[in-house]
Amino acid sequence: MLYEGVWQPVVASLLVAALLVGVLWPVVAHAELLAWFIAMLVVSLIRLDCGRRYRRLPPDEQARPCWLRLAAVGALVSGALWGAASLALFPHQYLQYQLALVLTIAGVGAAGVTTLASVWWVAALFLVPLIAPLALQYAWVGSGPAWKLATMVALFLAFVLVASYRLSRVLHENIRLKVEMGARERDLRESESRYRAIFHASPLGVFHFDRDGRLIDCNDKLLEFMGATRERVIGLDLFGTLEDARFIRGISQALSVGQGYFEGDYTSVLTRVSRPLRVLFSGIRDSRGEITGGVAVVEDLTEHRQAEATIHRQAFYDPLTALPNRRLLLDRIDQTRVRCRARGERGALLFVDLDRFKKVNESLGHAAGDQILTVAAQRLVALLRDDDLAARVSGDEFVVMIPSLRHDDDQAGAAVRRVAERIMQALSVPYRIAERSLKITPSIGFVLFGDDETSAVDLIKQAETAMYQAKAEGRARACHYLPSMHVVALQRLTLEQDLRQALENPGQLELHYQPQVDSDGHIIGAEALLRWHHPKRGMVSPAEFIPVAEESGLILELGDWVLVRACETLQRLDARCLPRLSINISPRQFGQANFIEAVESCVSRSGIDPARLQLEITEGVLIDDLFETIETMRILKGIGVGLAIDDFGVGYSSLSYLKRLPLDELKIDRSFIQELDDSNDAAIVQAIIAVAGHLHLSVVAEGIETAEQQAFLETHGCHCFQGFRFFRPMPYAALLEVFEERRHAHSNR
Ligand code: C2E
Ligand code: MG
Ligand code: MG
Repeated sequence: MLYEGVWQPVVASLLVAALLVGVLWPVVAHAELLAWFIAMLVVSLIRLDCGRRYRRLPPDEQARPCWLRLAAVGALVSGALWGAASLALFPHQYLQYQLALVLTIAGVGAAGVTTLASVWWVAALFLVPLIAPLALQYAWVGSGPAWKLATMVALFLAFVLVASYRLSRVLHENIRLKVEMGARERDLRESESRYRAIFHASPLGVFHFDRDGRLIDCNDKLLEFMGATRERVIGLDLFGTLEDARFIRGISQALSVGQGYFEGDYTSVLTRVSRPLRVLFSGIRDSRGEITGGVAVVEDLTEHRQAEATIHRQAFYDPLTALPNRRLLLDRIDQTRVRCRARGERGALLFVDLDRFKKVNESLGHAAGDQILTVAAQRLVALLRDDDLAARVSGDEFVVMIPSLRHDDDQAGAAVRRVAERIMQALSVPYRIAERSLKITPSIGFVLFGDDETSAVDLIKQAETAMYQAKAEGRARACHYLPSMHVVALQRLTLEQDLRQALENPGQLELHYQPQVDSDGHIIGAEALLRWHHPKRGMVSPAEFIPVAEESGLILELGDWVLVRACETLQRLDARCLPRLSINISPRQFGQANFIEAVESCVSRSGIDPARLQLEITEGVLIDDLFETIETMRILKGIGVGLAIDDFGVGYSSLSYLKRLPLDELKIDRSFIQELDDSNDAAIVQAIIAVAGHLHLSVVAEGIETAEQQAFLETHGCHCFQGFRFFRPMPYAALLEVFEERRHAHSNR
């Protein structure tokens, strides 16, 4: 401010100085007047120059303290120069002229107050040397009136000092306010632009409305929700246009009490699209606290709802089949139990397991397995009633819950059996997978519940136990749970665990050999039969542990073990002693992807003639997938091993496929041999022998115990025998002894 427009006071004071010189010209020495004026001129020019330079500087340069000091020196020097006029140019004798001088000094002083008061002490530096000399001059004169004038001048000085001080305070206060206001305005602008950014970039829809419910402004998100352009919605009369009463109530509440809320499905008036929204309405108040309008924040809950639904689905439903999962099932069972008890009804759980599903998964791949599961799930759902529930509890296991059955045990049991029958039929329809038709049957276990305290988990376990019983009874059937099954299931489980240990510690496993003979009693081969020496139970029959091994999958390891051992035996024994050895292959082992490889590598590693190894498969292998079985058999024949059908005649297979199979041998099941007295069985045996003859297959009769049995077979053309009449299955050492004896007998002859 000291430099701002400095030329005005400087030029004005120069003019006043020139005028003063003119006034005093007749009464004051001209030399002094001219000298004073020239000094005044020089000082004024210097001050103007300073002002000019100052204004050209950048703001940070201007802020340097030296410029303030320079302005102070300028004020001091010009004040002193004016003060010098009171001393050097004082017209002692001419009161009139004195008056001109005094008025000039007073005027210049007043002007100094207004121009320099922005820095109070600079004003003082100007005023004191300006006015004090005049007071001194009067004091110097010494007369009575002169003293009074001196005093008045001093008072005047004091007055202008005080005035300039107060003026400076006022100026400072104004400057502070102006700076503060600038800062506040800047803050306000920033906050406004911040708010605007939030308003526009917000993922929430925001709109403002006035006291009459007219939409004043909104962001793009809201336009997106409304499916409308800005032009269409700005100025919209919300009360008049909107249809949803809950939404309108939210706005009115914001305008009356300051808060409103809406949550629910909202249908846009413009697009007729409905979406779930949550809206918070707030009233906006003016400085007197009166509501002048409001703002609404609109949240679209569509994604939220979808996420909630997804989480719910993932937590309670099986992703593959979309059926409820185990967790939801447990929950529903608990609810149903409570309801059954209240109404005096019963419910039932059916545990459904797809037979031989693992084999499909292993041989056709998981995609095919998934397809079967999906179709099975659809078939289940299709045959159930609305309040029944089908859940997938794991792999190929489903549980069906039937609520609201009669309380009577017989009636409820009969109803469940009917459902089981329907499930059996529906799931047994062949599945078309990868251009094949696969027949898969289910095994079903069921349990009734209602008035006992059995937990949901235990109920499922009981149904599962009954399902295992169904499998043990030959699969493709339904079994009602009995408490005794629980014991059987437990025994099975222990057996499985023990078998697992036996495999890790094969001292418990041993191969026995049962020689096969011809009509002359010559050993023409042997069958390898697995024996398990259980550490606690002693010898466990394969008839007991092979089904457990099949169900648990342990049969694969067992089968490998037998294959390796059999090849070793063949390697050790000369072909003249033991022309060939048969081993039993379980259906599951036969269907395994790497079975062919295992046989090939075992045969080639042991270096035996592959024709000495005979694989016995059961008819069960043939029903699963005839096409694939034929393919596997062809490859095995290619390796050179022999193929036999074991226990022939007991299976459900038709004779028609026999000619399509690359077979070497049929083994007549011992059940027929043991019942040869029965004319039916005798006829079957004759028929088998005749069929084998037509197809050029050799026949081995199993389970020959008596001479009559042997004689019957021989008269009908079967000349290969296996049975206790000749040999019981025996350990390797015993087999060696048999060979040794025979060699002796031969050489003695
Ligand atoms: P299989 O293959 O039909 O074996 C013949 C069964 O009949 C053997 O029973 C054998 O001891 C028995 N047997 C032989 N001659 C007579 C006889 O004159 N009278 C009577 N009553 N029985 C006779 P084992 O050893 O108990 O085996 C039972 C079944 O276990 C076998 O039937 C076979 O299916 C299965 N098995 C045995 N070892 C293995 C194996 O290593 N792998 C597979 N997958 N299954 C095996
Ligand atoms: Mg056999
Ligand atoms: Mg057999």
